[in-house]
Amino acid sequence: MQLQIECNSLKQGSQACCVCSQLFELGQAKIILCDEQGTARGEVCPSCVHNGFDWIKQEFESSTSLRKIAYNRYRPTKLEVPVTA
Ligand SMILES: [Zn+2]
Repeated sequence: MQLQIECNSLKQGSQACCVCSQLFELGQAKIILCDEQGTARGEVCPSCVHNGFDWIKQEFESSTSLRKIAYNRYRPTKLEVPVTA
């Protein structure tokens, strides 16, 4: 996990934080959370940045595993549609 700071000139408005899922206003710089492969995982809001990198890492990893569980649990199951002639 690593944080990257990028200049933000394209996006405006609000963005959901990839750690706490809160919407925050985009500033002139954006902080992106990247994994070990350098793949961007999403943007981090200022309040998460304030909590520190170790906290972000911990939160992100736990929220990712929670999301996986939720995804598996709520994955749409095949609907039995009654066929009427
Ligand atoms: Zn956040």
